[in-house]
Amino acid sequence: MTFPYKGYAGYYLDVDLTKGKVHKKELEKEWARLYLGGTGVSARILWDRTGPETNPLSPENVLIAGTGPLTGAMFSPSGRMMFASKGPLTGVWAESHVGGFLGPEIKYAGFDFVLLNGRSEKPVYLFLRDGKAELIDAEHIWGKETNETTLMIREEHRDPDIKTAAIGPAGENQVLYGSIIVDFYRAAGRTGMGAVLGSKNVKAIAASGSLGIEIHDYEKYMAANDVEMERLKDPLWKDSLASLRKYGTTDLVAIINEIGRLPTKNHWTGYYEHADDIGPELIAEKYRIAQEACYGCEVGCKYIIRVKDGKYATDPIGGPEYETIMAFGSNCLNSNIEAVFHLGKRCDLLGLDTISCGKTISFAMELWERGILTAKDTDGLDLSWGNVEAMAELVEKIARKDGFGALLAKGTRKAAEEIGGDAWRYAVHVKGLEASGQDPRAHQSMGLTYATNVRGADHLRSISCVEELGYPEVAASRFGEDKADAILDIMSPEHKGLLIWDMEDLYSIVDSAVICKYGTMWPPMFYYDTFVNVIAPLTGMEEWADPKFVRQAGERISHLRRAYNHRLGVTRKEETLPPRLLSEPMPTGPSKGGLPDLDMMLDEYYDFRGCDRETGYPRDEKLREVGLDFVADDLAKRGMLAK
Ligand code: SF4
Repeated sequence: MTFPYKGYAGYYLDVDLTKGKVHKKELEKEWARLYLGGTGVSARILWDRTGPETNPLSPENVLIAGTGPLTGAMFSPSGRMMFASKGPLTGVWAESHVGGFLGPEIKYAGFDFVLLNGRSEKPVYLFLRDGKAELIDAEHIWGKETNETTLMIREEHRDPDIKTAAIGPAGENQVLYGSIIVDFYRAAGRTGMGAVLGSKNVKAIAASGSLGIEIHDYEKYMAANDVEMERLKDPLWKDSLASLRKYGTTDLVAIINEIGRLPTKNHWTGYYEHADDIGPELIAEKYRIAQEACYGCEVGCKYIIRVKDGKYATDPIGGPEYETIMAFGSNCLNSNIEAVFHLGKRCDLLGLDTISCGKTISFAMELWERGILTAKDTDGLDLSWGNVEAMAELVEKIARKDGFGALLAKGTRKAAEEIGGDAWRYAVHVKGLEASGQDPRAHQSMGLTYATNVRGADHLRSISCVEELGYPEVAASRFGEDKADAILDIMSPEHKGLLIWDMEDLYSIVDSAVICKYGTMWPPMFYYDTFVNVIAPLTGMEEWADPKFVRQAGERISHLRRAYNHRLGVTRKEETLPPRLLSEPMPTGPSKGGLPDLDMMLDEYYDFRGCDRETGYPRDEKLREVGLDFVADDLAKRGMLAK
């Protein structure tokens, strides 16, 4: 192998599903040096291989399963991996990250990335083991739910340690928000990556590896790791980390409701009066039976629940995240937590994104309330708020694209277009992605985060908890004493363009490294200096020890993904918010009257980003400064550079 850097397996797998061939190729040196891994490398590959002409569910689309240099490299947390593709739900850049144990296993099996091209004639699954890969017939597994799929693959190889990423019936049926389920109940949920896998006739990716990862300078790397882990002990975030360990992300139900940001009744308001019934204390006391962690994670925010009896009795399962509780709970006016557990579990087994699924159902419930939908449209289902029987039936119908479920399987944007009339007013999405569990009317920078996020309305590409949780020391050290007060005011739009620009580039590195954000970014423990400390001794890429180079790498990756979307028609017009969140003042709760000042924040953001305020297009000199000459040349030909 001539690939010079450590920390990587050094190979990627280029799979031609149409021909049934797998090609093992050496990782390209410049991919690692300039784009690090994960998101960054995927952006480079998708830029080259897909574009405006690519139908996301056609053989021409490419699905990438990727890791980063920190995956499986004795770093906490290092169990994550990601998927990227052109998105079927949104038609733009799509990516979804997931924890568990599969990421390290793929790397130990000898690959940093898997690229799935074409479409297999028959259902298959991809099996990776110690530098080798094969496509295996999956006709007997097709149609199975995700847990059974994993069990059958393990049984077939007589290896209970095999790790999998599997789709369920929803992915097979190309539900546009079909998810990929990793290790039973961890989900690469967002943006429909499961639908892309299904369109390629691929049921699963399975891996078992025993190859090690070499480290460039072991002593220096371990010393850098110790420095980073010391941050966990800082009293500044002791309480946040303790809460994550005790409640997982369920504690957000209480925290977010308290500030009036908890999506309730299809985002009508941000305050749910029955939040305690779906909140952290109740779950911890009555249902939680164990704490869990992803590979190599010192935080351990995962947990296991059991419902002993009653209609929704279940054997131990992974407890739902905050987002699932919000989507099937407050946002559908459902205070029955056991029903929420059930709906989340069914989504995992069927392979559905809980956020998009819950949000699409709440959208339909609002249309029902307003008389835009009637029993004639819903196959006779009564979509009154909080009707958990109807919700459970809809989840099954969506996964199987059965009747009314086939319409909701398209997500809120497309469903609203087909329903017509005023339905679009109640579709809460950006770029076609249903909003995650935050309301920008109660938190200004969240509005900007949603608007500029390359994959649509969610908080995972740049959310800052510096101001949300209130860290004056961090705000002052990162942005200066003079800006700290305004940054810390969550209802002020001032300096939020700076904040989100900074976080976007940081997260570009985080998502390329590939690590988890819980307990690292929230609370704000790690910053650019973390990567300056650990990447160079791990990989031997000495430029990564230079803070300027690391910052510029973040900018490069951010610009590349933005440019990918520009080619698909995204401009400032699309970097916006749905009408409900942009122009209906918050009607109730602690944030009553709140509205985001998106225009002001966007102007500032574009200035920092090096883009034109009118179109959002990048400046030629900015792209060349960060080493994206090929992007500048391409956008120039298309007339997509700032004037
Ligand atoms: S913080 Fe939670 S989600 Fe993140 S790696 Fe650790 S256990 Fe997994």
